[in-house]
Amino acid sequence: MRIMSASVANPGDPEIRLPDPSLVVLIGAAGAGKSTFAGRWFMADEILCSDQLRADISGDAADQSATAAAFALLHDRLGDRLRAGRLTVVDATNVRRSARRSLLVRATEANLPAVAIVLDLPRETVHARNEARRERVVESAVIDRQLADLGRTLARDQLAAEGFLAVTRITSTAELQGLIVRRVPAT
Ligand code: ATP
Ligand code: MG
Repeated sequence: MRIMSASVANPGDPEIRLPDPSLVVLIGAAGAGKSTFAGRWFMADEILCSDQLRADISGDAADQSATAAAFALLHDRLGDRLRAGRLTVVDATNVRRSARRSLLVRATEANLPAVAIVLDLPRETVHARNEARRERVVESAVIDRQLADLGRTLARDQLAAEGFLAVTRITSTAELQGLIVRRVPAT
């Protein structure tokens, strides 16, 4: 794990300390493991997942025609939860700055910190996991575009400048497996 922020105690320490409450933004291409990570570390009601909302609206998590409605709902729920002082995780690719901005503005309005967890796993791993999925396989060209967007975000070291208080970047499956997520009261 490469630590890009001072919020983790020691460089190399496989621990993410999350302010609670806060906005937690997962960032990563389709197949990177965001939903798996979210399910491991967060309660179901804490997670806002764009695919789940698409499925709620249209009956199909992959129905792109439901994207605008799904994100409108996601942003509304996120605003409501953050204003209520409840930690909320956004499980969507979030590889584009415009997508992250819509989330960050809700945290700012609620006066809560935002942290980013970047699943920057090797390209081959992401593609292999996507292809092995039973339920929903994403077109590989779409994943390549998302990986390119993510690469540009990271190359410019943009996330802290956008307003994230802390950024954790995970670059291998081993780091992901060893990682501990701890919550600390937000000051
Ligand atoms: P999408 O953006 O399309 O929803 P995602 O980032 O949520 O993708 P997941 O659905 O969590 O990705 O994971 C993709 C596939 O990889 C799943 O089949 C999952 O079981 C597998 N996977 C996720 N994390 C791991 C892991 N740490 N080790 C092994 N397999 C994993
Ligand atoms: Mg997912």
